[in-house]
Amino acid sequence: MNTRFTGNFTQQEPIPEEGIEAALAVLRHGRLHRYNTAPGELSEAALLEQEFAALTGARYALAVASGGYALGCALRAVGVRPGDKVLTNAFTLAPVPGAIAAVGAVPVFVEVTEDLVIDLDHLEALAGEARYLMLSHMRGHICDIDRLMAICDAAGITVIEDCAHTMGAAWDGVPSGRHGVVGCYSTQTYKHANSGEGGFLVTDDEEIAARAVMLSGSYMLYERHLAAPGPEVFERVKYDTPNVSGRMDNLRAAILRPQLRALPEQAARWNERYDAMERALGGTPGLRLVQREARAQPVGSSFQFLLPGWADTAVQAVLDRCAERGVELKWFGAAEPQAFTSRYDSWRYAQSPALPRTDAVLAGLVDLRLPLTFSLDDVALIASIIRAEVSAVWQQA
Ligand SMILES: *Cc1c(COP(=O)(O)O)cnc(C)c1O
Repeated sequence: MNTRFTGNFTQQEPIPEEGIEAALAVLRHGRLHRYNTAPGELSEAALLEQEFAALTGARYALAVASGGYALGCALRAVGVRPGDKVLTNAFTLAPVPGAIAAVGAVPVFVEVTEDLVIDLDHLEALAGEARYLMLSHMRGHICDIDRLMAICDAAGITVIEDCAHTMGAAWDGVPSGRHGVVGCYSTQTYKHANSGEGGFLVTDDEEIAARAVMLSGSYMLYERHLAAPGPEVFERVKYDTPNVSGRMDNLRAAILRPQLRALPEQAARWNERYDAMERALGGTPGLRLVQREARAQPVGSSFQFLLPGWADTAVQAVLDRCAERGVELKWFGAAEPQAFTSRYDSWRYAQSPALPRTDAVLAGLVDLRLPLTFSLDDVALIASIIRAEVSAVWQQA
C-alpha cells in the first residue's frame, strides 16, 4: 500500500497567545476604530505601524484593510491617473492587475522566466511604454533587483513593489519592499502574518506617505499616526486627496503586533521546510526546480516546480495521482482557472498580446503551500509522494 499524506494544506498556526490576549483587551475596552483613543492612549494600529516601519527600515508605514487595498492606495498616492499604463508581471495573483484596473489604469504584462521572476529583457524592451511598474514578487521569487532598478531608473519608471509573498524577505540584505518607491504587503491569512485581512504600505517619500494616509481614510486625524510625516506635509495634500476608506482597525493590529516580532523566526522555519522540499525533489526525472538568485533571501512559504514540456494529460495525471495520496497540488496550466490559478489571459478586462514565454512556463507550473503546521517529517512524506508519482508518469510517457 502506498503511504498517504493526511495533513491539511490550508491550515495555519493559531494566533500567538499574546495576540489573543491583546485582542481580548481591545474587545473589552471596545475602541476598535483606530482613531477612537482614550486621552493619552496610542492605538494598536498606530503602534503596529511604528513597529512595521522599524522592521522594514522605512521612514513611513501605513496599515490598511488588505494587501490589494495597499496596492491601489500606492498607485493613487504616486499619481497614477486613469488611462495610464502600468507594467506588471504576467505571472501574479489576480488582485495585482485588479488594483491597476480599479484606478482606471491599464496593466501591461511582462513575461515570466523559468525561475518565476519578471523577465528583465522583456521589461527593458517595454520600458518606453509606461511610467510605472508594479513589481510582484510572486510566490516569493525575487528577480535581480539591481538590474531591475537600473532599467527603471534609466527609463524614469516609478516602481511599486507587491511584497505579499516577501514580507520578511530581503535582497542583498535590504528588506523586500525597500527598493521601489513604495512597498506593499498583505496580512491575509495565507501570507506571512495572519489577521484574516489586512495590509501595509511603506515608503520614504513624505508626500506619498501623507497622501496614502489621507487616502486610507484618516479624515483630519492624521496626527494620531506614529509612522507618518509631520502636519506641514499634510497641509500640502489634505484638500486635494480623496478619502478612499480602507483603514486597519485595532483588533487586527493587536493580533499582528506579536506576529511581526516573531517574523524572523517564522521565516527561518518556512525556509527549513522549503530547503527540505528542494533537497528531496532534486534530481527527479522530468522535474525542474526553480533556481534562486544568490543575493535573494526569500521566505519559502510555498513551493513551485516545473514539468517543462510535459503534455497536459501527463501533468494532470501527476496531479490526480498525488491527490489520491493526499497531496494537493495546484497547476497554472489548466485550460480553466481554478481557485487562485488565474493567468494573464484569464483577466480579459486587461487585453494583452499573447506572451509565449509565460505560456510555456505556466503550462508546466505546479504549486503547493507549505504551512508552518507541517513538520519536517510531513515535508519529507509529501516530497516522497511527489517524487514517486512524477517518476511513475514520466516513465510511462
Ligand atoms: C494575496 C496577494 C495580494 C493581495 O493581498 P490581499 O490582502 O488578499 O488583498 C497581492 N499580491 C499577491 C501576489 C498576493 O498573493
